[in-house]
Amino acid sequence: MKIKGLQCKECHKTYEAVALHVCEFCFGPLEVVYDYAFIRANLSKEKILQGPKSLWRYEALLPIAGPPTVGLDAGFTPMVHAKNLGTELGLDYLYLKNDTVNCLTLSFKDRVVAVALTRAKELGFNTVACASTGNLANAVSAAAASAQLRCFVFIPHDLEVAKVLGNLVYRPTVVAIEGNYDDVNRLCSEISEEFPWAFVNINIRPYYSEGSKTLAYETIEQMGWQVPDHVVVPIASGSLLTKIAKGFKEFEWMGFVSGVATQLHGAQAQGCAPVADAFKEQREFIRPLKPKTIAKSLAIGNPADGIYALQAIRSSGGMAEAVSDEEVVEGMLLLASKEGIFAETAGGVTIGVLKKLAKQGRFGRNEVVVAYITGNGLKTQEAVTPAVGAPWTIKPSLSGFQKMLKEVETQMSSPPRRR
Ligand SMILES: *Cc1c(COP(=O)(O)O)cnc(C)c1O
Repeated sequence: MKIKGLQCKECHKTYEAVALHVCEFCFGPLEVVYDYAFIRANLSKEKILQGPKSLWRYEALLPIAGPPTVGLDAGFTPMVHAKNLGTELGLDYLYLKNDTVNCLTLSFKDRVVAVALTRAKELGFNTVACASTGNLANAVSAAAASAQLRCFVFIPHDLEVAKVLGNLVYRPTVVAIEGNYDDVNRLCSEISEEFPWAFVNINIRPYYSEGSKTLAYETIEQMGWQVPDHVVVPIASGSLLTKIAKGFKEFEWMGFVSGVATQLHGAQAQGCAPVADAFKEQREFIRPLKPKTIAKSLAIGNPADGIYALQAIRSSGGMAEAVSDEEVVEGMLLLASKEGIFAETAGGVTIGVLKKLAKQGRFGRNEVVVAYITGNGLKTQEAVTPAVGAPWTIKPSLSGFQKMLKEVETQMSSPPRRR
C-alpha cells in the first residue's frame, strides 16, 4: 500500500487514512504519509510518460487507494515560454503554467478536487461540500455533478457574478454567507462536525491538498525534467505553495531530478497579505486580518497553511511580496496583451509580484522562472471592465471605417493616455 496513514505535522502522532484533518492531541494539521520506498520501486519516468495526459499520470504519488474516478481530465495544462513578457521583464527563460484552461472549471482547483472527490468516494461519502473563495466551489460543483454526488457549496455573499453562476449551473445547493471567507470557513468547520459529509478542504483536506503537488510534477516534466531556479506562487490558504515545494522534493526522492534549490516566492494582494506582512516584519507567526481586495480568490485573512508557506519561502531563500489592486489590474492587462492569456485577479497578483521581483533584481536573466497562473479572467470580469474601454462602434460603411481608422492611427501615434 502506498498510503501509510496520516500524521500530525506538529507532534507527529499517526492516524489511519480516514476523513480527519486535525490532531486530536495538539490540534496540528494532519498530512498523508506515503511509503516512498514502495512508490520509488514501482515508478519511473517512462511509466509517467505512458500515463494519461492528465494529473493522473502521477497517480502513484497521490493519496488514493484505487483507480481515479473523478476529475479524469484535470491537469496537464500548457507550460508557456513567455517570450514577450520575458523581454519586457529582462528574463530569457520565463515560463507560465497556464491553469486558466484547466478542466472542468478553468482554475487550479480542478486538481485538488479531482483528488479529494476520488478519495471521498473511496471513504464511502455520498455528499460532498466545501468552504470556498470561489474557484473551489466551481470545481466541487462541476465534479460532483459529473460523479452524481450530492453537493453543498458555501461561499462569501459578495463573489463575482461568474463565480456564483459557475456554481448554480451545476445545480448544487449554493449557500452564500453574509461574511467573508474566514466566516464561511468557521461555519463549515461547525457544520462538518454535525453532518457526515466530505468537506473537501476541511475533513478531506489532507487528501485535497496533495492535488496541488501535481503542479510541481508537471513543471519538472514539461521543463524537460529540470527544476526551475525560481517559482512565483499565489497564496490564499498557503497550501498551493507548500505543496509545490513538496512536489519538487518528492521528484528528487524518486531520482527524477537532483539538487533541487528552487527559490519559492509567494504572491499576495496588499489588501490581504498576512503571509507577505509576516515575511516583511520577520515574524514567526501569521497575524489574521480582514481582507479587502479585488483578488477575492486569494482573500483569506487567517490562512490555514500560512505559517508553513512562510517557512517554505524562508528556507528556500525566496521572497513574499504584495501588490496593490491597481497593480493587480495592470498585471492582468500586461499578461493578456503580451501573452494572450486572460487570467483572473489571482493571475494579476502573480504577474504583479513577478514584475516587482524582476525590478528588484531578484532573478538573473538566464535563470529559469516559472509563474503559476491559477484562474481564468472570464470569472472576474468586474475587475478589468473599467480599465479596458469599449469597442469602436461604427455604421456598416467603408467610409465610416476609414474615418475611424484615421482616429485609431492618431491615437496610436500620440503618447498613451493615462487613465
Ligand atoms: C485557491 C486559489 C489559489 C491559492 O490556493 P491556496 O492553496 O489556498 O493557497 C490560487 N489561485 C486561485 C485562482 C485560487 O482559486
